[in-house]
Amino acid sequence: MSANLSFNNGGKSTVQTGLFINNKFQPALDGKTFGVVNPATGEEIAQVSEASAKDIDVAVKAARKAYDEVWGERTPAAQRGKLLMKLADLVEKHNDELASIESLDNGKAFSIASSFDVPSVAANLRYFGGWADKNTGQTIEVDSSADFHYTRHEPIGVCGQIIPWNFPILMFAWKIAPALATGNTVVLKTAEQTPLSALKMAELIVEAGFPPGVVNIVSGFGPVAGAAISAHMDIDKVAFTGSTLVGRNVMKAAASSNLKKVTLELGGKSPVIVFGDADLDQAVGWAAFGIYFNHGQCCCAGSRVFVEESAYDEFMQKLSAKVKQVQGMVGDAFDKNTFQGPQVSQLQFDRIMAHIESGKKDGATLVSGGARHGDKGYFIEPTIFTDVKPDAKIAQEEIFGPVLVVSKFTDEADLLKKAHDTMYGLAASVHTLNIKKGISVAHKLKAGTGINQHNQLTPQVPFGGYKASGIGREMGQYALTNYTNVKAVHLALDKQAPI
Ligand code: ADP
Repeated sequence: MSANLSFNNGGKSTVQTGLFINNKFQPALDGKTFGVVNPATGEEIAQVSEASAKDIDVAVKAARKAYDEVWGERTPAAQRGKLLMKLADLVEKHNDELASIESLDNGKAFSIASSFDVPSVAANLRYFGGWADKNTGQTIEVDSSADFHYTRHEPIGVCGQIIPWNFPILMFAWKIAPALATGNTVVLKTAEQTPLSALKMAELIVEAGFPPGVVNIVSGFGPVAGAAISAHMDIDKVAFTGSTLVGRNVMKAAASSNLKKVTLELGGKSPVIVFGDADLDQAVGWAAFGIYFNHGQCCCAGSRVFVEESAYDEFMQKLSAKVKQVQGMVGDAFDKNTFQGPQVSQLQFDRIMAHIESGKKDGATLVSGGARHGDKGYFIEPTIFTDVKPDAKIAQEEIFGPVLVVSKFTDEADLLKKAHDTMYGLAASVHTLNIKKGISVAHKLKAGTGINQHNQLTPQVPFGGYKASGIGREMGQYALTNYTNVKAVHLALDKQAPI
């Protein structure tokens, strides 16, 4: 089963659309498939196999066999690293094809997918490939010379990974790279809206030379295939990226099955904080980038901007001009001028429009946007609200769309109270030319914080949530701890049994 894809830039690609298990594409056991839609038009572009719980069982068996027989500590760590590096090289070779698939399936601008998403995939694979033979344990000195202690960083085993649709190929890399580097095998479920780029990656995984069963990729729906992964008795760890609502379900399923380890990268309502002494042109640029990048579909999106009273009017003037500029860059993914594409699905479009309506109903001032853009596909105008009550839905809930809420603050105490008035704590940014103040506020915020920048993630630096935004860290050395069991070994040198 395959899909022939044609892109608006003249390119073409063929993607195998079966379930990828044991390095082979195969139909679902019950033969079911589902349609994948181009969000720019609402038209179907492919039918892909739909995994049921039984297919998840088959994939887990493949991953278990590979873990026990060829991977884990049976493949030298340096070889695992080499395979990840080889995969990174293949990603670079297929950069534009992968980016085109991503743009067609998700709606994001090809110019961005080809210069950011896909190159970041290669960078993550290479970064974690480099860690494969360096993630060593410690020797631990204790008081007595009678014994000797050390730790081993062992792989956990079979990892279930469930990813979202906002950065399909990048989330795929964020998940598989640290898991494989540390010697785990993987059953990964893509988001039902965007399965295609990971299926193309499956072909490259075979070409790179990964043994069968090390990476298994299934397409399917959350309540069936995702739930089967979270509740599976032979999966040792589940890593999930998506909404806080579903994250709770994943954790519950893990708790009530085999208590598999859980890491969660969940929602956010991240503050962009602009002090009166900021470079306002830069702050406006970062605020606009913070919310409109990826059409607002970023878990770390800067969806709440807080501006110090003294700078508020000037900031709003500049922001209104900036949003007009963004409005001119909303369009089809393959248009060179496009910055903001369509939302990923009809469901997301409807959810965002419902939030916009609730903002209006709650008495907020609609400064820009607020409507559908164009007459087909799921495009929404870049939108700004002011005068929003702190308990309004649009101030509290993650909208996951191009909708910004801007408010004022008077001083640092007022700012911190407002910034923390949400259940989330995924990201934040502080904009000021007073570096002492920037650092001091960054240290007080309950979230990873950018100073004079927003939405800037890189493989070497960890990312993850405080509060209801998650458990564990993606990327950086810290991500390795999500995928290893630390074993302590206690060795007696000169010790007698106590009794
Ligand atoms: P959204 O609501 O924006 O689609 P989700 O959190 O629902 O975000 O989706 C993120 C990922 O979680 C997707 O791969 C989806 O299929 C999966 N998912 C959805 N529901 C469940 C569930 N009950 N158990 C496990 N995974 C799920």
